[in-house]
Amino acid sequence: MSKSWGLCKDCKWWQLEPRARIADASLGLCIEEKLQPFRMRVSGNSGCNRFMPGEPARAKGSSAEPPTAKPQR
Ligand code: SF4
Repeated sequence: MSKSWGLCKDCKWWQLEPRARIADASLGLCIEEKLQPFRMRVSGNSGCNRFMPGEPARAKGSSAEPPTAKPQR
């Protein structure tokens, strides 16, 4: 895996429901600044080259269709 590409489950721009597990199949909103307009709902084993290592944010509505949560970062 390249340094600039990583998985959502290890990314600080992933935002999960308050009690969701950090897991491959969990779904959450991507809150990376440039990707926010797309309201992308991504799984733990999705990934992209805007990856930044860190803990996910948390907010209710992050896994809705479409996500309704406000970005917390
Ligand atoms: S889509 Fe990219 S920036 Fe967004 S949470 Fe996943 S790895 Fe991070």
